[in-house]
Amino acid sequence: MNLFQRYVGSGMARRLRKRVLPNIGILLRTWQVRRCRCCQRTSLHLQFGIDEEYSKCLRCTANLRYELQAEYLRDNFRPEMLDILELDPNSCLRPILEKGRSYRRTYFRPGHKPGTMRPDGSVMEDITALTLPDRSLDLIVSSDVLEHVPDAAAAFRESFRVLRPGGAHVFTVPFEPRTIRRAVIEDGALRHLAEPEYHADPLDPRGILAFWHFGPDLQEQFGDSGLVFTLVKGPEGKRRSVVWEARRLT
Ligand SMILES: [Zn+2]
Repeated sequence: MNLFQRYVGSGMARRLRKRVLPNIGILLRTWQVRRCRCCQRTSLHLQFGIDEEYSKCLRCTANLRYELQAEYLRDNFRPEMLDILELDPNSCLRPILEKGRSYRRTYFRPGHKPGTMRPDGSVMEDITALTLPDRSLDLIVSSDVLEHVPDAAAAFRESFRVLRPGGAHVFTVPFEPRTIRRAVIEDGALRHLAEPEYHADPLDPRGILAFWHFGPDLQEQFGDSGLVFTLVKGPEGKRRSVVWEARRLT
């Protein structure tokens, strides 16, 4: 195999062929040099697809929803005073959150034992059944995760359980006109209640199923978890990105 063949077969060349070349027109129309609201550095922002979701800061990889979330977290929390859980092993929010008094990064894989630590230091956790004690956290952060959790009500009840009074779960989810359950797992079997919708997943080329659409009505839908839901940022941008805060008051 010569050097050219090796290059063409490499992951970088595949990404170039599949993601960059077909989107070169979008890339040229949408590129920006500006201050990133996540890493706070001046950087090049490139969009690798028609959807704003694929617009990235080349320094920290944040897209608009991450920028909004980073800005909200920075303006409203002092991480060094807080015990923090992030439902992501390695997000672009990590430089902000790892300043926490404690900072637990998590991943989720069905079949993995909860509490197992991977070599990268992240811990297997299921947001509907965390291995953490009651009232042990001040801040939970998740970014476009909760719409993929089959039992979202259980995720919010569990957030309430592990948060201390005054603590909050700050999250992003795609902003839809109203809350709809799109799929359910019954007796271990998946049943679709609406046209299946898959979102891009870095770990699975087939994508990840959205069990939920979340609208502006989260307080009515999930307020019985004990959390108080507030839309704290957005909608902003073509994708109408938003940030939610679900706070435990007492
Ligand atoms: Zn950035």
